[in-house]
Amino acid sequence: MQQEQQMESVARSGAERLPGTPQEHLSSETTRTVLRIQHRMLMGIRRHLDEAGFTELHAPVIGPVTDPGCRGAKQVDIDFYGRRYKLMTSAILYKQASLHAFDRIFCVAPNIRLEPPETASTSRHLAEFHQIDVEVAGYTREQIMDVAQGIVVAAVREVVTTMPQELERLGRDTDAFKDLLERPFDVITHAEAVGQVDGDPHAEIDWEGEARISRKATRPFFVTDYPKGSRGFYDRESREHPGMLRNFDLLAPEGYGELASGSEREFEYARIVTRMRETGENPAKYGWYLDMVREGIQGSAGFGIGFERLTRYITGVQYVWEASAYPKLPGVFSA
Ligand code: AMP
Ligand code: MG
Repeated sequence: MQQEQQMESVARSGAERLPGTPQEHLSSETTRTVLRIQHRMLMGIRRHLDEAGFTELHAPVIGPVTDPGCRGAKQVDIDFYGRRYKLMTSAILYKQASLHAFDRIFCVAPNIRLEPPETASTSRHLAEFHQIDVEVAGYTREQIMDVAQGIVVAAVREVVTTMPQELERLGRDTDAFKDLLERPFDVITHAEAVGQVDGDPHAEIDWEGEARISRKATRPFFVTDYPKGSRGFYDRESREHPGMLRNFDLLAPEGYGELASGSEREFEYARIVTRMRETGENPAKYGWYLDMVREGIQGSAGFGIGFERLTRYITGVQYVWEASAYPKLPGVFSA
């Protein structure tokens, strides 16, 4: 299909505006303002994490295996000297490995996920995006949720104090962040969240339900305790409540939806292999990772914040592609 035809079909399916050519997109005043704000956000986040004792590592792009927990999205294979390798859908396996070097690490990690083409019109899916990926040895879920909150607050505070005029130019009222800067984020359980939207207690909250609870909020909030089956093998299962995961999502208010997912991690060999089997993964594929786990890794907790999603929420732009210099929408052949 020609690019224009494809753009049209995306447009018909709901996205009213699409990125133009790279030269149009990059020279637009809106893009340039959003990217300057995004730069400032990252400066604020890096400073915040540096002061908290984190070391930034540079995430891998390829590996023999990658995060299988991205339901609905396909992985990309590449030929690595005659072997099939993957482009990273997330850095999770390497984040656990990183704790051999340092107890607190973060990466600004590029991810490739071939999301279904229909997600091109959700305003919040890209095929290529970045995560602020964090992992801390020995942390509990509650401790790592504090770190996630700290990052969002640091990014918002940095932008609100240093770039209020730019926000105004984008039509983003800085009052939108008053509540966020004043009080800790609320926490609800997955069971409570699905109760609010008549959802399935055994599954992910669907996008429509998520958008509904997000629209009601005035500052980001956490949803905890997702059921097993909704997430990858690495989210630690509660010992007290089998079937419930020691994990969380962070949702933005105003309908922006999910910003981050995180958890305490499984770290014991036997449990990881069992969880892999339960989630339909073949342990034989995970050679280097399981060898490492067998030798022993630390318990940890971590999360990934979608950097373009966070930028979209802070700048208030309508589409997540507006928060990317080189946007790739699912199924759209662009630069
Ligand atoms: P996940 O591991 O799927 O929870 O992804 C971690 C975070 O990355 C999510 O909370 C989102 O903020 C972001 N993210 C995931 N998929 C996409 C996508 N297709 N486009 C943009 N951001 C994404
Ligand atoms: Mg998620």
